[in-house]
Amino acid sequence: MSSYEYIVSACLAGINCRYDGRNTLDPDAAKLVAEGRALPVCPELLGGLHTPRESSEIVRTSEGSKKVMTASGEDVSEAFIKGARATLEICRTCGITKAILQQRSPSCGCGTVYDGSFSGKTVEGMGVTASLLTSAGIEILS
Ligand code: SF4
Repeated sequence: MSSYEYIVSACLAGINCRYDGRNTLDPDAAKLVAEGRALPVCPELLGGLHTPRESSEIVRTSEGSKKVMTASGEDVSEAFIKGARATLEICRTCGITKAILQQRSPSCGCGTVYDGSFSGKTVEGMGVTASLLTSAGIEILS
């Protein structure tokens, strides 16, 4: 069993893994990583995507299902699901039961996510990774 208490969205730890090559540094999250208490992970990179990449949002189809689409219309759902599964596998391997995740992301968002219109509007919902972790009993902290 590892000594990690949390996984943390890697962009919160200051790693430049966002779609635009930047990060969303949160000093408290970075401190947990520096102390060896939190393990930084980026589900989208674990899913095989690269930085930089096109921005993506969760889109609701007319049939009521959800897909993750890039702004130019590419369906990247498979990479997002792969990254979510890899993130859960890391939690299980390391015995981690808590996750500190970046808000509004189509992977990491918990509670609200962008609405699929690429206009900055948000709706209630969960990112792909946040949803899988929650269903597996991992506690999400934003
Ligand atoms: Fe940050 Fe999560 Fe997006 Fe990676 S997938 S850039 S960790 S919000």
